Order: sequence, then structure tokens, then C-alpha cells
Amino acid sequence: YDAKKARQRLQVYRTGRDAEHLHRLSLVNDLRRAVPNGELELHYQPKLQLSSRRVAHVEALLRWRHPQHGLVPPDEFIPLAEHSGLIRSLTDWVLHEVIRQCAEWADSGLDIGIALNLSAMDLGSGDLPDVLARHLARYRLDPGRLVLEITETAVMRDAFYSLEVLNRLKACGVMLAIDDFGTGYSSLSHLKRLPVDELKIDKSFVIGMDQDEDDAVIVRSTIELAHNMGLKVVAEGVETEATMELLHRYRCDSVQGYLISRPMAVAEATRWLGEASRRYNAEAAGTVA
Ligand code: C2E
Ligand code: MG
Ligand code: MG
Ligand code: MG
Repeated sequence: YDAKKARQRLQVYRTGRDAEHLHRLSLVNDLRRAVPNGELELHYQPKLQLSSRRVAHVEALLRWRHPQHGLVPPDEFIPLAEHSGLIRSLTDWVLHEVIRQCAEWADSGLDIGIALNLSAMDLGSGDLPDVLARHLARYRLDPGRLVLEITETAVMRDAFYSLEVLNRLKACGVMLAIDDFGTGYSSLSHLKRLPVDELKIDKSFVIGMDQDEDDAVIVRSTIELAHNMGLKVVAEGVETEATMELLHRYRCDSVQGYLISRPMAVAEATRWLGEASRRYNAEAAGTVA
């Protein structure tokens, strides 16, 4: 045992941790200005309906274009926003931007719904349903076009209070989805009481399901279970044709993943969706003729 070496290692470790800590602190500071500085943007990833082959929704995924660090992924700044109490201001921005964008697409003839992600802490603030209702009214948007995604763990954190907020969100006419399903520990009896329409199977089960039989079994039984409870099912993380084939066979309702498209910035998404809708309409016309 070399005490000197061990001390040196500890020193390196500490310096690393302090640097990491400082970096996070300065990011939180920068994050405060991200909304007013217009540094946030939404990227959109299509969700494909398997039976009709139609793209009826996209998921809005938040990006932060940091002036020095470039594009910061949500897994890095959402937790910071949650711990620093900034999350509600981000969620309000996302909510407004999604509703504005959805109305803009509808006006230009693009018949597309948008799913957005809520954080666990958003369910803790009781005024979210009012904010939602206000934006919907302002843009005269059909609330049926919106899907709110809430992770399984978020819903379970304060099951009683969540149920109340979820009921009020649902009463606005939007659809609700449970995100990352399979990673938490939901009791099914509790899930049954939630006013949800859709279950999204976590990508950790989907990505390798064409190689791993256990994952395939989990996905198949989750789809059956969800259908028995009257829920639609979306599989996220579909990267191969083989996986899409399997999901089709298991009667999964919709798929999302790099195979269909990566999340796209708004200009590219608008082009992509216009093209997909023209192709779909042409094929539909071809089927009828
Ligand atoms: P999520 O809602 O489960 O979103 C799916 C994530 O999987 C996205 O990562 C997406 O880019 C990625 N993904 C999609 N298809 C594939 C695929 O085929 N393979 C692989 N490997 N990954 C795929 P992203 O955009 O980095 O977002 C990560 C998470 O950050 C989201 O997970 C969501 O929980 C959170 N998030 C994103 N935007 C928001 C937001 O506006 N508000 C809140 N509260 N959370 C957000
Ligand atoms: Mg999601
Ligand atoms: Mg997910
Ligand atoms: Mg996720």
C-alpha cells in the first residue's frame, strides 16, 4: 500500500469532482438565461402508426443551444433544471412552443399531433392544467392533437397527488401517455386507475429485442397487457427492420426510432412531414383506385 500514491489519487479525484461541481453550477446559472436568450429549441421525432403506415404524431424533444458548449442534450440539463427549481419555466416554454407550432402546422394543412414530455416536478405544481387550457384557447388548438408524456416513475412518486393533476390535465381534452414504461415499479392496479391513453415501452427493452429473446418476451407481454387494459402502445428505440417486423407481429400500435427518423430541427421536420403526408395520401389514393 503506497499512502502517498493513494493521497495523490484522492487529490485527482477531488479536483475532478470539484471541477465537475463548478461546471454544473455555472451551467445552472446559464440555464437561468436560456429562455430569455432564446437558446432553447425543440426537435421533432416522428411516430409511425403500424397498421395505417401514417405518421400521426411527432414527439417534441428539448435541446439547449449553449453559446459556448453547443447543443446540450436534455439528459444533462433537465436534472439540473429540476434540482434548481427552473424546470417549470422550461416546461411552460415547451408547452407554449408546442401548441404554437402545432397550430402553425395545422394552419398550413399539416395534420399532425405533438407529444411533449413533462417532468415529475411539473405534476407537483397545481396550475399546470390552467396554463395548458390558456395556451389551447389562445391558439384555438384542438386539444386532441396533444399528448402529454409522463414517466412511470414520475407518476408513482406521489401517486395520490399525481392522479388529481392527471385528471385535471385529461379534462382539458389532451391525451396522456406513460413514458419509459418498464423501468419503474408501477403496480398495475394503480396504473389502471390513471386516466392514460397510451403506454410507451422503454427503449432499453426495444433496442435489442431482435437479438435478445428475453427482451422480446417482455415487449410482447407488455403489449398484450396494455391492450387488455384498453391502452395504445408505442415502442421507442426502433432501430432495425427486424425489430419493426416483430412489433408488427405483436400488434404494437406505433413505433418511434432511428429507423424511421432521428429527431429533426423544425425546418427539416416540416419538410419531412410534408413529404410523408404526400406519400401517404398518394398511396391511400392508389389503394382506393
Ligand atoms: P424520452 O422522452 O424517453 O425520449 C426518447 C429519447 O430516445 C430521446 O432522447 C430520443 O432522441 C431517443 N431516441 C429516439 N429513438 C431512438 C433510437 O432509435 N435509438 C436510441 N438509442 N435512442 C432513440 P433525447 O432527445 O436525448 O431525450 C432524452 C430524455 O430527455 C427524454 O426521454 C425525456 O425524458 C427528456 N426530455 C426531452 N425533452 C424534454 C422536455 O421538453 N421536458 C422534459 N421534462 N423532459 C424532456
Ligand atoms: Mg418521451
Ligand atoms: Mg421514453
Ligand atoms: Mg427516456
